[in-house]
Amino acid sequence: MVEPPGPGAAPRRVPALARMVVGADLGGTKLAAVLVDGAHTVVHRIWLDRPGAGLAALVVALEAAVSECQVVAAGLGGEVGAVGLAVAGWLSADREHLVWGANLSARDHELGAELRGRLQVPVVIENDGNATALGEFRAAGLSQGCMAVFTFGTGVGGGVIVDGRPLIGARGLAGELGHMPVTDGGGPCVCGGRGCLELFTSGPGLARAGGTSSSFEVVAAARAGDAGALGVLSTAGKAIGRAAAVLVAVVDPDIVVLAGSLAHAAGEYLLPAARSALAEERPLRAVRLPPPIELGRLGRDAGAIGAAELVLDPPASASVRRSGHPRPAPGAQGRAIEHMSPEHRGAEHMPGGTR
Ligand SMILES: [Zn+2]
Repeated sequence: MVEPPGPGAAPRRVPALARMVVGADLGGTKLAAVLVDGAHTVVHRIWLDRPGAGLAALVVALEAAVSECQVVAAGLGGEVGAVGLAVAGWLSADREHLVWGANLSARDHELGAELRGRLQVPVVIENDGNATALGEFRAAGLSQGCMAVFTFGTGVGGGVIVDGRPLIGARGLAGELGHMPVTDGGGPCVCGGRGCLELFTSGPGLARAGGTSSSFEVVAAARAGDAGALGVLSTAGKAIGRAAAVLVAVVDPDIVVLAGSLAHAAGEYLLPAARSALAEERPLRAVRLPPPIELGRLGRDAGAIGAAELVLDPPASASVRRSGHPRPAPGAQGRAIEHMSPEHRGAEHMPGGTR
């Protein structure tokens, strides 16, 4: 006869693959979430366009997404043990407090405590650019070296990963690559500065320069041969290259990655201009070649996957996975795993997660 577990019984042992986590990416206009198992395999995806206006509505959408993932996990014989959240905003250095989310209409919010109370699981929060950078770093199979990642969307963010860890900075603002000034003067930026990279390369920035209602219309016009649209994307690419040149002097990255759906949509125009500007303007040219600039591998789920990785294998304790030269495999760049068919998802391992 099997006795029911008493109050002092040992906790139930959960098989490694059944210990699952949710990674979510909360932006101003979208919510992406993934359910990831203990083998770093994405087993369920959620994508919501415009899930609500303002942080309160987005948190309600996040709760619903986590609930959906809990149901899916239970159906697979697992359970959600933690949630990693990538958020489009500036966080305190301890990542608990949302200082300002310009696109979330939120300021001075105790986000960590609120989410742990509502979701009733451990929650780890990171800036969306840093989470994306961590996801791309691990997707490239890296454990060492330096990767600088620009993320392009409603705003322009980024992250710098050094030997597996995101740079955080004294006040939590390291890696805000969209707010590197790339021109003298220029228009005012949401950050309070002027001439920031974001003004030239964000979705709204491209649309404004192209005189269209969306950045994807600029890309479509460029594909049709429109000289004005081609000029807008060339200017944006050159601005990225100039920002990358500054990074060479500051962190000497092994590779620079352009991530996010806008980067993938416009990559054929942004990459050549960025590479050319970096080659022309890079510092330290007497002693090093320019680092490669490539598209990310994770597509639009990069932030959510990076957030899942944050709780599945925290960077501070991440084990060394793979040695070797920190470069992606030839031809592998641009792989967008969300385009895989469901029957292939069993092979959807994070390359960095194989241990
Ligand atoms: Zn700025």
